[in-house]
Amino acid sequence: MPDLRRPDADSRWRCAQCGNLTRFDVVRRSRTREYWHLDLSGEPQVESSETLVDELESVTCRWCGSGAAIEVVARPDR
Ligand SMILES: [Zn+2]
Repeated sequence: MPDLRRPDADSRWRCAQCGNLTRFDVVRRSRTREYWHLDLSGEPQVESSETLVDELESVTCRWCGSGAAIEVVARPDR
């Protein structure tokens, strides 16, 4: 079962299958509220944006293509 938690300041993703720590394909589903300001010609500009929902759908390793072995591990000590 893949671990779909997001890494935080102390953790990172790791592919347990091949050891990749740095490259992942991430699919997210987000829902936003935006303030659109249109000029008189009708050209819109998004002046502010608020994220209402931001869900992680899948994380896949770029090296081996597997999404089954992604885990969250501690970052190295700096
Ligand atoms: Zn991998």
